[in-house]
Amino acid sequence: MTVLRGATLIDGTGAAPVRDATLVVQDGRIESITIGAGGPAPASHAVIDATGLTVLPGLIDCHDHLAMHGYELASRWGLSEPGSTRSVRTARVIEQTLAAGYTTVRDAGGLDVGFRLAVEEGLIQGPRLLTAVAIISPVGGIGDRVSPSGHECVVPHDPALPESVANGVEDVRRVVRTMIRGGADVIKCATTGGASSRAGHGPKDPAFSRDEMQALVDEAHAQGRKVMCHALGGPGLRLALDVGVDSIEHGCYLDEDPELIPMMAEKGVVFTPTLLVYVYHSESKSPHVRERSRALREHHRASIQRALAAGVRVVAGTDAGGHGHPPNARELPLLVEAGLSPMQAIQAATGWAAEAVGLEREIGTLEKGKRADLIAVAGDPLADVGLLADGQRIRLVLKDGAVVVRR
Ligand SMILES: [Zn+2]
Repeated sequence: MTVLRGATLIDGTGAAPVRDATLVVQDGRIESITIGAGGPAPASHAVIDATGLTVLPGLIDCHDHLAMHGYELASRWGLSEPGSTRSVRTARVIEQTLAAGYTTVRDAGGLDVGFRLAVEEGLIQGPRLLTAVAIISPVGGIGDRVSPSGHECVVPHDPALPESVANGVEDVRRVVRTMIRGGADVIKCATTGGASSRAGHGPKDPAFSRDEMQALVDEAHAQGRKVMCHALGGPGLRLALDVGVDSIEHGCYLDEDPELIPMMAEKGVVFTPTLLVYVYHSESKSPHVRERSRALREHHRASIQRALAAGVRVVAGTDAGGHGHPPNARELPLLVEAGLSPMQAIQAATGWAAEAVGLEREIGTLEKGKRADLIAVAGDPLADVGLLADGQRIRLVLKDGAVVVRR
């Protein structure tokens, strides 16, 4: 049993904070939450004095690439260092991410299932991991390893990551099944290019036909997997919503077609804007990347504001990996700048994020019976949500009721 006493509690539901909360954790779950005097009086060794700290649910990043370590081609193609060094590097990132207060991460491509197994077995410490394994796209899409000039990558494929290029309805079904056989918890696909993709495959350029995408979504759903779809704008963005994906990743130009956000609200589709990556891309050395990310900025903001007004869940994802692995909570002040309240930004990384990844019955809010994934931070994140990105302020991290960090 572990007891936290004296904290200010932000429970992740959007409810106002309450002072002087006592949380009792037993067998990995929250057994009780009491406010003020009259809480349980357990043996003193089990009590953690959290006076002056704010307790929140463990944070969730809905879109990370833990096993990516740079956009530069040699790194993307696995040429810059031996695979073993790269795996150890990824393990280090996983450990640091947990230490930063992230108790759950959904990886959007590049992380093979072995890392999830290593965390589950206790070989390394890390967040609870959900992985898409690899990004499914057609030839020329963002999952295809081509150089800026259009050359195919001739490097042997990493056997831990199934081939993710699919063309035609039957092939799409085969690749979805291959991804699931390879341990995918979620299916990641792309129906448009992106800011960093090669010249000629930009944010509004489509990938996949309607038949292919319908087959992808049907197959994933038939096997109980959500579909997270990289889609920035143009016809590919609308197609993703038409065929029933579960979340729109990036969604920069949702504002351009007035029907899209109402469709998302009606179908319960989640929006993961990933603002942090575009801050990075807007300073890119590649002119086309810089131009694309600057052009989309105001549309992205407008899309977020309209989504919030329509009741669409806006959740926090960093798209980290290519742009290194900064503190994941740097996404939160960017969400506030874009129009979320500080409380909504916290929900975007806790309660709403848990819904986005399909774990809302287990994690995301601090309530009796839920898994005890929580953090205690020095300071008031509602006054400055950016302090969640300051590792030294994350004084305590519990995952599944176990104390994994105590500063
Ligand atoms: Zn991504």
